[in-house]
Amino acid sequence: MSCDFMALATPGVQGLHPYEAGKPVEELERELGISNIVKLASNENPLGPSGRAMAAAQAALADATRYPDSNGFGLKRALQRHYGLAANQLTLGNGSNDVLELIARAFLNPGDEVVFSEYAFAVYPIVTQACSATAVVTPARDYGHNLQAMAEAITERTRLLFIANPNNPTGTALMRDELVAFLDTVPEQVIVVLDEAYTEYVDQADFPDGLELLPRYPNLIVTRTFSKAWGLAGLRVGFAAANPVITDLLNRVRQPFNVSHLALAAAEAVLADSDYLQRSVELNRAGMQQLEEGLKLQGLGFIPSFGNFITVDVARPAQPVFEALLREGVIVRPLGPYRMPQHLRISIGLPEENDRFLRALRQVLAC
Ligand SMILES: *Cc1c(COP(=O)(O)O)cnc(C)c1O
Repeated sequence: MSCDFMALATPGVQGLHPYEAGKPVEELERELGISNIVKLASNENPLGPSGRAMAAAQAALADATRYPDSNGFGLKRALQRHYGLAANQLTLGNGSNDVLELIARAFLNPGDEVVFSEYAFAVYPIVTQACSATAVVTPARDYGHNLQAMAEAITERTRLLFIANPNNPTGTALMRDELVAFLDTVPEQVIVVLDEAYTEYVDQADFPDGLELLPRYPNLIVTRTFSKAWGLAGLRVGFAAANPVITDLLNRVRQPFNVSHLALAAAEAVLADSDYLQRSVELNRAGMQQLEEGLKLQGLGFIPSFGNFITVDVARPAQPVFEALLREGVIVRPLGPYRMPQHLRISIGLPEENDRFLRALRQVLAC
């Protein structure tokens, strides 16, 4: 090639590293020629989808020749009822990842600063860099967000600030008083994105509900997803809730048909399936306890987690441990890309999957 295409890309894209997803089961099957693989790598819901959601998606297939409803009327109406929000506060996304990107596209100019914490979700640096904005990464405190450091990092050039609560990949959480005190100090022209992908798993009384904080903070955007406790990661649907002006801006950059028929129908149906949500949360609680106890028995440290995963300190380079677990047919997530080279993140699975992981880990660490 005579043309330097790399040089043609925007400066942000030139410096970008693609997101590293959890290894798919089929890929490992092809590589090892084995079946019966356990994937605990992408914080997916181990329960399988809600029956109601599957029936709704199935029925929606009959409309596959039509474009989906660009305004997502049915799902927005269900969200309004479920969460007490207004339609003009809602932006639907192809997963909440999509809305995180819409937020960046709507608000970031090259050179604007975006504040987020060390060990925060990998999508924040990616959307920041893609817009040629500047990431300002604040040091963590006990693997969680240090809100004081984040407040101190705000400058005239700060446009966005990302907080994941609970955070992925560390599972840490901020409680209401702490978060509210912080939000009170953030200047109104700095938009705070509160990413609540795991909120359904938390039952602590002093854990904040971002949606309740929206009336108080016009600069707040709350994002939620159907990928985790609601069990629809493969269908790709999530949403942002914010004031109507911000919502209007996000909808200007949104692709008109960003959420499919099937995703809209399934998400609307699962919102009415409170039994499914409860079973997800209970399975997660029991699985978390199982993993914590199993890890303690092996003398391993872990970060106490509020999510549907647990991050373990294997006290040695974690990449070889990850690879040895793969050979045992267990896929977890190494956290080298997060600069946590001795940690592995394990999603909570079914009891037998958790057990399989614990046994494989014991075997691998003994070698
Ligand atoms: C999983 C996750 C999301 C959700 O991703 P989707 O695009 O909705 O599947 C968002 N934020 C965090 C912190 C996550 O871990």
